[in-house]
Amino acid sequence: MAPSRVLRCCQRGLSWIPVIFINLVVCWSYYAYVVQLCIYTIPNPEEQVIYLVVFHVCFVMFMWSYWKTIISKPSNPSKEFFLPKAEKEQYEKEERPEAQQEILKKVAKNLPIYTRTGSGAIRYCDCCQLIKPDRCHHCSTCDQCVLKMDHHCPWVNNCVGFSNYKFFVLFLAYSMLYCVFIASTVLQYFIKFWTNQIDTHAKFHVLFLFFVAAMFFVSIMSLFTYHIWLIAKNMTTIGLRAPVFRNGPDKNGFTVGFYKNLTQVFGDQKRYWCLPVYTSLGDGYTFPTRLVNLDSEQGNVDHQADPKRYFCYCLFSTVTYVTNILLLTIFLTF
Ligand SMILES: [Zn+2]
Ligand SMILES: [Zn+2]
Repeated sequence: MAPSRVLRCCQRGLSWIPVIFINLVVCWSYYAYVVQLCIYTIPNPEEQVIYLVVFHVCFVMFMWSYWKTIISKPSNPSKEFFLPKAEKEQYEKEERPEAQQEILKKVAKNLPIYTRTGSGAIRYCDCCQLIKPDRCHHCSTCDQCVLKMDHHCPWVNNCVGFSNYKFFVLFLAYSMLYCVFIASTVLQYFIKFWTNQIDTHAKFHVLFLFFVAAMFFVSIMSLFTYHIWLIAKNMTTIGLRAPVFRNGPDKNGFTVGFYKNLTQVFGDQKRYWCLPVYTSLGDGYTFPTRLVNLDSEQGNVDHQADPKRYFCYCLFSTVTYVTNILLLTIFLTF
């Protein structure tokens, strides 16, 4: 086997470590809650049953949305977006960027493409050799172009984009619910163990259960809030720069109102909003836009990274990563 192929196999294997870590933590939390807390610690049968039923509902929804995010294949551009053979050869032979742009413009004329690069050029992926549809980005980890790409998430070892964004947001919501339910129901037993009012072999599990659930809750909450804000604004994590349309840049170009933004991700039937089943609207290629930049003055909108958005992104990322690192460190030192 060629060394590069071996390296790729190793990389692919290593990329599953965060997923394995999350699953091990979840398996342990299941054992600690069901066996150590509900069966060995809680004396009241009624309390046991209520806790177990609600816990299992949260657990099933959490695992369902988590695995749907992991196993959903990212949507890739269809063959119409690849350069036809003749144009591709012409493009490769040509060295002048202006001439290459002319070739791309000719092909893009027949495609539903309304966004451009910062300099106004057609967005082209050199790795995949295709014209990028609107909101499509190349993921260097997956080595492919992904429709409405949001980000590559190591915790699900998958690209989060058009095919699984709803599942990802639900995964954040249900993992938060799972953590908050565990933390709130464990709290009274946590205090009893902590103050030595009860002292059984379940002590270690119950103390850690509260601690881990609370830490994960804080960590996920910041990420969840950030994504709800992105959905409300119809933006993506990767799209920190304002999208540039044919008539100029507009940071709110894809915003079509809060409710409509919401339905683009969750679908127009409210009964499916909470279920990790595919209901997102659209085809991943074209997106409704508000009518903007019809006059030349609007074309002067600054299309540099919005400092406010960039600050929010950095803040949420930092809180999430610092909490996770803190959690891991304390977990390992105990
Ligand atoms: Zn690509
Ligand atoms: Zn990816």
